[in-house]
Amino acid sequence: MKTTGFSAQHGQRGAKQPALVDRHGVWRNWGRSAQSRPSGVEQPGTEDQLLALLRAAHREGRRVKVVGGGHSFTDIAATDGTLISLDRLQGLTRVDPVSGLVSLLGGTRVWRISDALEPYGLALANMGDIDRQSIAGALATGTHGTGLGFTGYSGMLRSVRIALADGTVLTASAQHHPELFQAARVGLGAIGVLLEVTLQCVPAFTVSAAEHPEPLEHMIESFVQRSREVDHLEFYWFQHTQLAATKSNMRQEAGVSRRPLTRRQHLLDDELLGNGGLRLLCEAGRAIPRAVPALNRFAATAMGDRQYSDRSDRIFVSPRRTRFREMEYAVPLEDFEEVFREVMAAVNGCGSGITFPVEVRTAGADDTWLGTASGRESAYFALHRFVKEDHVPFFAAVEPILRAAGGRPHWGKIHTMDAPDLARVYPRFEDFRRVRAQVDPGGMFANAYLDRVVGRG
Ligand SMILES: Cc1cc2nc3c(=O)[nH]c(=O)nc-3n(C[C@H](O)[C@H](O)[C@H](O)COP(=O)(O)OP(=O)(O)OC[C@H]3O[C@@H](n4cnc5c(N)ncnc54)[C@H](O)[C@@H]3O)c2cc1C
Repeated sequence: MKTTGFSAQHGQRGAKQPALVDRHGVWRNWGRSAQSRPSGVEQPGTEDQLLALLRAAHREGRRVKVVGGGHSFTDIAATDGTLISLDRLQGLTRVDPVSGLVSLLGGTRVWRISDALEPYGLALANMGDIDRQSIAGALATGTHGTGLGFTGYSGMLRSVRIALADGTVLTASAQHHPELFQAARVGLGAIGVLLEVTLQCVPAFTVSAAEHPEPLEHMIESFVQRSREVDHLEFYWFQHTQLAATKSNMRQEAGVSRRPLTRRQHLLDDELLGNGGLRLLCEAGRAIPRAVPALNRFAATAMGDRQYSDRSDRIFVSPRRTRFREMEYAVPLEDFEEVFREVMAAVNGCGSGITFPVEVRTAGADDTWLGTASGRESAYFALHRFVKEDHVPFFAAVEPILRAAGGRPHWGKIHTMDAPDLARVYPRFEDFRRVRAQVDPGGMFANAYLDRVVGRG
């Protein structure tokens, strides 16, 4: 057992955190799709300071919102009350190398976790596309990666230490306060402040990545079956192309010899082509929309034709420097092919200016209340739009298809569903609302997003 704290600036990639609000007092999310003007901004340096803030707000009937990395595309983290960042409350608090149970402070950024676990021979079992989130923020929205044998972070969660609206601190797990634990697993920031979370981690592993373009029709027909054979399969499809840019990642023991990308390859493929190239593609597509089909064909082939292997997090995660907006829905896996064909027709029907690809992933069923893969194996459809373009008509053209398929929207990505809609796709939705009403009857953690997706009380 060992405790390792991180300061907000600690670590190789720990560039100084940008200010939470600009000089006009405005907070904005990464995707520039949500903003608010908090009445106050706090960065407590100790848990006692945080609890004092919560108790004062509770006494005075003020609203508060904890923000993680601000990487949700919805206004889930927006508030006109007090905005609290836990960037000064990061760290690994407990590690048990035998059981693989790992405890982290809620504010810990995901990118710090893999380095911190390496000395113990442990790793996160799966990860999403980026690691800029806080672990509590990632849990709050049901963040996931790809792979039918795996769940999102909330499926890995074993217990939480949580501060409720009145400042009470409880430890909740499947054994203790089980309903509070269930509500907090994908808690939407509505249940309380996650002070510390304990995750089931796994022995460290290497991932061998194969990336190449292949005929789209073959991918559509074989995706479900191949998702059962490949540990982590995903593909990207660009509008008006017949290609799938495929990523097939297989897990290997940590000790196998690795073939990581050289620094030059990384700079060329991920930074120059992946980020710079994508930005150029988007700007060119905006200037000359009729050139987009040709640009997209180029992008689908240029996106990757390579094989390499590395520590798991270095394969799962990629830098994302070109800002965009995203909508993502999870549908039952067995409906993937039918839904994909409908989505493809709708996207191709949106003129010719869509430069960002549709991303398709999977997750295994989990037993969370509000996780997008709760109770069912899921296929994810993610649609993106360059930040300088209007995402509304594009998302509106596709969202009805995903909703009609019984889709569940990612809680941190743009969607139009409200509480009655969501109650129809989540069997435990009313349980979540009941627990929320018990622990935050005054709506101290409420905001406009929660009013829409969960209701006012
Ligand atoms: C470029 C990019 C790539 C992405 N890739 C993926 C992906 O691959 N897979 C995926 O599933 N998602 C992905 N997302 C979405 C992202 O993972 C989620 O929106 C996630 O919630 C963001 O975490 P955050 O720390 O930024 O949280 P924020 O957006 O800051 O907050 C989200 C919610 O968490 C709550 N919260 C934060 N800290 C706490 C706390 N300590 N206690 C209680 N509640 C808290 C907030 O109040 C809010 O309700 C991506 C987003 C971006 C911008």
